[in-house]
Amino acid sequence: MKVQSIRGFNDVLPADSALWQHLFDTARNLFEAYGYREMRIPVVESIALFKRAVGEVTDVVEKEMYAFEDRGGEHIALRPEFTAGVVRAGIEHGLFHNQQQRVWCAGPVFRYERPQAGRYRQFHQLNVEAYGIPGPDVDVELIAMTARLWKALGFRNLRLELNSLGGPETRTRYRAALVGFLSRHEASLDEDSRKRLQTNPLRVLDSKVPATQSIVKDAPSILDYLDADSAAHLDGLRQGLSDLDIAHHVNPRLVRGLDYYTKGVFEWITSELGAQGTICAGGRYDGLVEQLGGSPTPAVGWAAGVERLILLLQKLGTAPLAAEADVYVCCFGEQGERAGLALAEAARDALGQKARVALNVGGGKPGAQFKRADKSGARVALAIGDDEVAAGTVQVKFLREDRPQVAATRSELAALLASLFPPKHA
Ligand code: ATP
Ligand code: MG
Repeated sequence: MKVQSIRGFNDVLPADSALWQHLFDTARNLFEAYGYREMRIPVVESIALFKRAVGEVTDVVEKEMYAFEDRGGEHIALRPEFTAGVVRAGIEHGLFHNQQQRVWCAGPVFRYERPQAGRYRQFHQLNVEAYGIPGPDVDVELIAMTARLWKALGFRNLRLELNSLGGPETRTRYRAALVGFLSRHEASLDEDSRKRLQTNPLRVLDSKVPATQSIVKDAPSILDYLDADSAAHLDGLRQGLSDLDIAHHVNPRLVRGLDYYTKGVFEWITSELGAQGTICAGGRYDGLVEQLGGSPTPAVGWAAGVERLILLLQKLGTAPLAAEADVYVCCFGEQGERAGLALAEAARDALGQKARVALNVGGGKPGAQFKRADKSGARVALAIGDDEVAAGTVQVKFLREDRPQVAATRSELAALLASLFPPKHA
């Protein structure tokens, strides 16, 4: 039997991991530079948490959750998103009592969806959240952070869409108006939307079915129903973004797939990835902490889909070279092969984190070893054979520049390597 991966679950192979590392390093440095700190939470939580946080009648909970009973009869689910778990952990550890928290998480999440380009069953999110701050200043900060991330990754031509989902009062009034409107067109709605009309009418606005979309475009706008507090929040958010020259568009049909959102919500959209164009989405969820048993705590955050960011990076062709090594150690002959291990260790001592050192293992003729050195992407090859062992030297061969090969003693070598690979952040 041939063992295969599960549908919708992907491998990241060595040739692609440099791009993933580039993305995660860039994101982590940026989050920390804004004063956000990492939080790591379990991949599984109780099903009840996601039902209560995300909402019983959302696609995520109804159709997409990996939920099962463990051997002890516990009802658990693989996390479909981070926020529910962060709130659970925050309440459990008392992080929300009269405090502000700015946190980020990154890792895999799971949704049982139909796999296609940019949509998988295991995917990864970068997730950033701020608790205890009513905004809109912190909402602007969070969006500015995304804008800076796109810039650092070389993305252009992204579209930022905003909307407000109001507070509970807005939602009740708007819901009634929307249901009234949609009911008059019920016969023309797709089946899913007709069901949603009863359970979660705002989600109809998000339908991807063309016939439903053409009805929805004439639906009442939630912006006409906003309570004063939500309207002021949206104004503040727009003003703050304009002050930072972050272009944005208000889209009154923008809704989110998770029920906990209130007030300002947003999405970053690219036209380069077809139907899976939303690379980042977020907004405010002021009611969630209290809803899950904590004290009332305003909150706002966003999540970006890592696989979609990787697809964009690949499209841009900014993929960093997936080189294996900076320095490649070739070793020949019995004495040389024994000395190779120590030479590679000495090179690592001299270089620290500044460069990667790969040792030729498994022997091979000089020609084959230098070929591997070249393929590794290394800048220099260090070669040691029985003659060099006897002389106490190493041959340094430059693989990428027109520079003569030199013989160096051990102490000369350390100085040479240090000059070839200066500290990265100097
Ligand atoms: P979509 O409308 O594309 O289903 P969503 O509203 O369900 O997205 P969120 O829950 O807001 O998505 O998740 C945040 C981000 O995670 C999305 O903007 C997207 O970039 C990414 N994402 C969501 N679902 C998937 C998936 N199945 N595979 C890959 N990335 C995903
Ligand atoms: Mg979805």
